[in-house]
Amino acid sequence: MTTPLRHDWSLDEIRQLHDSPFLDLVFRAAAVHREHHDPLEMQVCKLISVKTGACPEDCAYCAQSSRYSTGVDAERMLDRTTVVEIASRAKAAGVSRVCLGAAWREVKDNGQFDRVVDMVKGVTDLGLEVCCTLGMLSEPQARRLEEAGLYAYNHNVDSSAEFYETIITTRTYADRLNTIENVRKTKVTVCSGGIIGLGERVDDRLRMLQTLQSVRPHPESVPINILSKVAGTPMAGQPDVPVWDVIRMIATARILMPASDVRLTAGRVRLSPTEQALCFLAGANSIFSSETEFMLTPAVPSPSYDADAELLRVLGLVPRAPFDNPNAPRAAELASLQSTAEPATAVA
Ligand code: SAM
Ligand code: SF4
Repeated sequence: MTTPLRHDWSLDEIRQLHDSPFLDLVFRAAAVHREHHDPLEMQVCKLISVKTGACPEDCAYCAQSSRYSTGVDAERMLDRTTVVEIASRAKAAGVSRVCLGAAWREVKDNGQFDRVVDMVKGVTDLGLEVCCTLGMLSEPQARRLEEAGLYAYNHNVDSSAEFYETIITTRTYADRLNTIENVRKTKVTVCSGGIIGLGERVDDRLRMLQTLQSVRPHPESVPINILSKVAGTPMAGQPDVPVWDVIRMIATARILMPASDVRLTAGRVRLSPTEQALCFLAGANSIFSSETEFMLTPAVPSPSYDADAELLRVLGLVPRAPFDNPNAPRAAELASLQSTAEPATAVA
């Protein structure tokens, strides 16, 4: 029987887990990982920035905010053909999920959204999982994306509610949770995680994980970003996050949300192959890879398809096929409810 899924971890419990001796924590996380996932599989994802730059928001880490001089200029929206071509090459490189990102505060019901909906259809038709990260979303907009075949919607909570307002002032944490709720009302899966290295306290990281584990069902995907320091943003001078912190964060997320995919996202390029292997042992089973060696913009570098293919080969891992996560939280939640239900009593 697999470990039942919980949504009631207290901050003290999470802290105890996170602060436990390093090897104990990694061992426990690896065991939980193996209960719920094929440990030889890695989900390989590709980000495509369909609308880059000139975002009105003031997220203190972001290269695309119009508030900071980062050298990232506003670009025209990509067309469907270009997006489908990039996605086809990604598929050939072993990618199973393509994430379409836009530097928007929120989705507006206009021609640009129509074009994104069309891109979602085009990439889904290639047999790939499509995720969108477009900012805040209403329920009707989430339904439109659902009808277009969208598989996942990314909306990160980024940090604790308390710390959030010190890095972003143009929207609230409640706004963020509201979009996640809107997506949860559809069949579209939820991708939500955060960033470490913004100057937050360890408690902020743990409060963020507490928020994520309280989502019902757990987010199907939980990205853990290491801050990619972007010159020109208020976060440019932050100290590097020690790799031990990254691994503790991944292991804790894995134990709290056993059936979710935990993604080692931005900042992975800084880690050596050995450090990445430890992250995978601790439960990270999803990565972003790129043909361009950057994620959304050149300000946030990413390992290349070739480097990642070699890493997976060395570690004996294989890229996971699309739509192939049978233990995703919804299914695991159901199984967990059934296994903890009172056994039916025989009536004489
Ligand atoms: N505008 C959309 C939004 O904010 O939801 C999508 C843009 S972006 C892909 C979304 C996420 O990328 C952010 O929430 C943040 O977690 C991550 N991110 C952006 N810049 C980053 C950086 N410099 N370092 C690490 N993570 C970053
Ligand atoms: Fe805009 Fe998203 Fe960047 Fe914030 S993270 S500035 S909302 S693109």
